[in-house]
Amino acid sequence: MHHLWSAIKRFFGMDYGWNVMTFARVAVDPVSARELTRVLQPVPTIRLRPEPAVTVHADHQPPFTWHGITDAGLMRTQNEDCLAMLDLGRSAFFAVADGMGGHDAGEVASRIAVDTVSREMHDDPAESGDPLALVAQSIRAANTAVKQAALRKASNMGTTLTTALVIGKTAYVGSVGDSRAYWIGDGSITQITRDHSLVARLVEAGRLSKEDARTDLRSNLLFRNIGSVDAVEVDVFRVPLSGGILLLCSDGLWGELGDDEIRNICTEEERTEVMCARLVQQANANGGKDNITAIVVKVA
Ligand code: CA
Repeated sequence: MHHLWSAIKRFFGMDYGWNVMTFARVAVDPVSARELTRVLQPVPTIRLRPEPAVTVHADHQPPFTWHGITDAGLMRTQNEDCLAMLDLGRSAFFAVADGMGGHDAGEVASRIAVDTVSREMHDDPAESGDPLALVAQSIRAANTAVKQAALRKASNMGTTLTTALVIGKTAYVGSVGDSRAYWIGDGSITQITRDHSLVARLVEAGRLSKEDARTDLRSNLLFRNIGSVDAVEVDVFRVPLSGGILLLCSDGLWGELGDDEIRNICTEEERTEVMCARLVQQANANGGKDNITAIVVKVA
């Protein structure tokens, strides 16, 4: 319980005097009556003041260490990304959400999603007989919570949500949307999750290169997200971990950095906080067009 409370306090920034989940990002227009798909249209914004990189520390917890960071980037005055890192004793839980919905809705959606999946981890997940089912169920609960909030506010808010429950040397990853999980080990980088976006479908169909997809103007078109439909389909992945880095990130990171750049930074640095700082620094150096969030989990 103490661990959970400490984690909740960290999650809400209560240890640091700031709020991790504040801010907002981008205007969103529904492009279909069913609202299954949304167009994120970048809004011209003036940067009113520097947004310092926000870093969340977590306790050292062998056999893995972790660190997370979120940054508004250079073009947006608000940050609609949200992250959570929970030390659950015999397991650890991580979540990244990238909200959308315009006005203040995006920040609300990503926060509700991350808050809900975190609460779903209240019992010792290491005791769970089926961690993948727990991960999927928690994301479905987040979908219900965001959907209900959207109905209450008559809002088209939504969010991506990518989570990882790490028990021992296995990660149970769940994802909806285009925030990603990667595994970096043995000098290579592997994308664990599949983006639920139009451009990802075009890449899979061989009609667009992965490199071109990162900068494609349609890259914000998602066909699956949290908060749009009553029953969301959740992708889940069981990932054995050994000697490498598990990375969760929003598209503000992978949209600015190629896979090789991400791999190089994560393999060149020893300390997770330095990896996070360099990832954000490079994303901003490459344009910083979107909010940037990264969680790195270093596994011995
Ligand atoms: Ca984003």
